[in-house]
Amino acid sequence: MRWLTRILKRKTDGEPSTPHVFLTNSLSGTKELFLPLRPGIVLLYTCGPTVYSRQHIGNLRSAVFSDTLARVFISAGYRVRRVINITDVGHLVGDGDTGEDKIEASAKREGRTASAIAEHYTRLFLDDLAELNIDTEDIFFPRASEYIREQVSLARTLEEKGFAYRTRDGLYFDTSRFPGYGKLGGLKDAELKAGARVELNPEKRHPADFVLWKRTPRGVHRLQEWDSPWGRGAPGWNIECSAMARALLGTEIDIHTGGEDLAPTHHNNEIAQSEAASGRPFARYWMHNAFLNMGGEKISKSIGNVVFLSDITAKGYSPLSLRYFFLQAHYRTPLSFSFEALAGASGALERLWNLSRELAEESGRRSERSEAQRRFLAAVRNDIATPQALGILWDTLKSEEFTPEEKWGLLEEAEKHFGLALLAPPPSGALTGTKIPDEVKDMLARRETARISKDFEAADRIRSAIEHRGYRVDDGPKGPVLTRTSL
Ligand code: AMP
Ligand code: ZN
Repeated sequence: MRWLTRILKRKTDGEPSTPHVFLTNSLSGTKELFLPLRPGIVLLYTCGPTVYSRQHIGNLRSAVFSDTLARVFISAGYRVRRVINITDVGHLVGDGDTGEDKIEASAKREGRTASAIAEHYTRLFLDDLAELNIDTEDIFFPRASEYIREQVSLARTLEEKGFAYRTRDGLYFDTSRFPGYGKLGGLKDAELKAGARVELNPEKRHPADFVLWKRTPRGVHRLQEWDSPWGRGAPGWNIECSAMARALLGTEIDIHTGGEDLAPTHHNNEIAQSEAASGRPFARYWMHNAFLNMGGEKISKSIGNVVFLSDITAKGYSPLSLRYFFLQAHYRTPLSFSFEALAGASGALERLWNLSRELAEESGRRSERSEAQRRFLAAVRNDIATPQALGILWDTLKSEEFTPEEKWGLLEEAEKHFGLALLAPPPSGALTGTKIPDEVKDMLARRETARISKDFEAADRIRSAIEHRGYRVDDGPKGPVLTRTSL
């Protein structure tokens, strides 16, 4: 009977002892109850940036979405193991199997080494995440170039199992050998053919086949290349995610996220590689965020309609106003960015911060549970319905039916999920360091030096120069405080 006890135990182990969370799974196209592979743990993989240029705010929507998802699980009592990959090799300019490596092209353009380019843009990306209140210490950021051995090993397994074939320019995945190729989004053969790029490689057996290892052409020297059983070269773009997910999270993972553009090709390729190699399902839940658009088109480097987080902070907005802006829309709904819309989000966030300051006094920061908190949790656990949750937060804070303690309790809950500095808003009207242009920061530092050395004439001169830039300086107990006087 021991086997029965074991099976029953396993069954109860699989049941969530944590609250129910429902997610829309792109695999089934329906909303499903989340059941973890291991109780109390979520293994979460997010496709990250190709670090050949600065990430725009569309890319950041994808990062804020996966962060919100992680927060929902953490608040529900899970431990979340998170990976966001950094693509620093293998992503070709055409997004397919041909063309130059994006990092190399960038390195040549900027006259720097590939690793200097990758490091520079990785740093900017991590800084952006930190400004958006994403705890980067809690996430693994594996670089593709540091997992070459794992990628080669995976590609070799695929070849040994008969899922790959060699051509003169490398090793390709044979999609016809993988039953159910294209299952994400239910792509049919015709769509796969239409979706695949018109390739220049006549040796490919099927248009949807994709490169696992790209051999460097004779006489060419790539900035980043390695030896492999298929010759000197570099991995294809898709294999890194399968290899790094396996190395850091395991053969089977709970949730895989990314922007919706990745689902048809990159994610179907990841599924094919991982599942063909292991014979097991790869990710149980696939989740995709919709695009951030501007002027009716998705924000995209190739279209040229990009906005960076630094553009937002340079205009004096808190980076958290962008986070608030994202949370106003459901992650599966396309969202249109404009500075007018951002100003609206920023104003709303300032009002929330004001309410929080008042409530901190009224409640003495004591919190009580309420019906509103229950509804808030139900909303975020229902496919991360942040617009509804924000609505509940606003209604409750404005309502007279709740005590200050209940309102503070809801604010604490909201902060866990939203990460908007709701419990400790930045000083009213004062700017946080991140929003101040470098030039003004410099002036402020020079004024401090003048003040300390009692050169008050110079200090006053610099103060009026700062005022000319639209900022007021007040000397507070903890040093100077800058306030914006104009936008
Ligand atoms: P990339 O650096 O282009 O590989 O993109 C990194 C992540 O950002 C991927 O998950 C993309 O799907 C996502 N992404 C790119 N553009 C947008 C956009 N305009 N809106 C939302 N997500 C995007
Ligand atoms: Zn990926």
